Amino acid sequence: MCEDKLKIKVFIIILIVIIIISLIFIITTNSKNKSIYLTIDDCPSPDFKEKVKYLIDNDIKATFFCVGSAMSNYKEDLSFAVSNGYDIENHSFSHPYFSKISLEEIKDEIYKTDKIITDIYKDANIERTHKFFREPYGDKMYFQFKKRKEVNNYLKSLGYTKPKTKTFTFVDLFYPKDVGVFWTANIKEYDFSEKKTLNRLEKILNKNKNQIILVHDHKRTTEVFYKIINKLLESKIEIKSL
Ligand SMILES: [Zn+2]
Repeated sequence: MCEDKLKIKVFIIILIVIIIISLIFIITTNSKNKSIYLTIDDCPSPDFKEKVKYLIDNDIKATFFCVGSAMSNYKEDLSFAVSNGYDIENHSFSHPYFSKISLEEIKDEIYKTDKIITDIYKDANIERTHKFFREPYGDKMYFQFKKRKEVNNYLKSLGYTKPKTKTFTFVDLFYPKDVGVFWTANIKEYDFSEKKTLNRLEKILNKNKNQIILVHDHKRTTEVFYKIINKLLESKIEIKSL
């Protein structure tokens, strides 16, 4: 009997905690003046510079998460982005699943790309004011607690921080101190037809909350990339970088 009461108490406490966390999440993400944080992953493709030009022409801000192994062929294009006020950020060197490689390999993935990014900022003579990181595939190594903590400590030791967006707070229940930048909406244009992609985007834009939107700089989806950007423009929602 006594044990049953204890179980009920524990259940009620857990329920209250979940409700409080949900309320905090809703309060921090809902906004009358909603914003979109546009993040573009897997840069740079051969079409990267054209995409940057399109964003410049339409006065759209964005944050680029780059894969180190692809960067050496497009240093001038990346320098062009940085010189025009866009941030290029770290998305690993070869885009592996972090949960499937060792800690030392992860550190190497992060370090090599960090160095390339630093060099691009230096060559462009632009100060690198912050460092953001996004795990390939959003693989946050769930349930590999020790490894995840060590990866985060390593990122922090290199100067990586969580973006300080004023209108958006992402609460990671598993690891609140995580600095890896996640998203609220992955457009998944690589998986869907153009029609389905744009329909999904419309639904996302109709939600009454701030969004960290994820699109990709893949050669295969270049055509739909411009249509996504046009739809963002049509929405009249303020588009920001992180
Ligand atoms: Zn990626």
